[in-house]
Amino acid sequence: MLEKFRLDGKVALITGGNRGIGLAIAHALGEAGAKLVISGRSKVPESEKSLADAGYDFEFIAADITDPAAPGMLVDETVKRRGRLDILVNNAGIARHGDTPDFDEGRWREIMGTNLDAVFRGCRAAIGPMRAQGGGAIVNIGSISGFVSNVPQNQVAYNASKAAVHHMTRSLASEFAAENIRINAVAPGYIDTDMSRGGIENPEWFPIWRDMTPMRRVGQPEEVAACVLFLAAPASSYVTGEVLVVDGGYLTR
Ligand code: NDP
Repeated sequence: MLEKFRLDGKVALITGGNRGIGLAIAHALGEAGAKLVISGRSKVPESEKSLADAGYDFEFIAADITDPAAPGMLVDETVKRRGRLDILVNNAGIARHGDTPDFDEGRWREIMGTNLDAVFRGCRAAIGPMRAQGGGAIVNIGSISGFVSNVPQNQVAYNASKAAVHHMTRSLASEFAAENIRINAVAPGYIDTDMSRGGIENPEWFPIWRDMTPMRRVGQPEEVAACVLFLAAPASSYVTGEVLVVDGGYLTR
């Protein structure tokens, strides 16, 4: 059974793979034997060192994912440089909070452009090569915020973008299931990364987050990455359209 978690000979593209949850995903898929292409706006030398020290076959391609051409370029470059694309992890994302009357068009578009538009464009671009290869796996990173609104911070755009990612995942899964292209999502709860650091260090917010999480702690990026590995690997060969919640029990309340 454990060999069904191996990804030897597979090529994986991970957006936002240069830090946080994306870097942990790169490590998990690399350890399973995948060749990696990671992207982000800028190189993070210590992250690349950690992948190199682990002995993984990887390369970084710089791209601002809000550029409408970027997701397609990343897919095309991956196929050009590595010969194929077996796994796409749409992980790059941003969070912004603020009261809705003050949330201007620019901030709304920034969130939607990064968290939703780029995920759609990445999925759309990956279908061609995956179809030609006879299959593939896409994993989109959603959030518990796609199911419930965060408290105490107001994040209407973020919440809406993640709910849309979940439903887009299900819709695409149905469209491409017969072609052996599996499309799933992972919905993390509060995870210890740069994105959540401000909240973890906020003495008003963190006790609320912790008290609303039955495990009484934030998660680690590796705990999300393990679930992405499952959904990317043959171990989940009959799973598609699933949104796998990784939240220490947050949504059980
Ligand atoms: P981080 O802030 O640590 O990392 C975000 C990643 O996204 C970075 O690699 C960043 O690279 C990349 N990114 C952001 N904007 C762009 C852009 N315009 N173009 C290209 N890359 C971009 O966040 P996390 O690791 O925590 O988040 C990863 C995913 O997990 C996101 O989708 C997030 O919404 C989701 N998530 C996180 C949770 C948490 O508690 N941390 C909870 C639930 C979901 P760079 O800056 O170099 O461009």
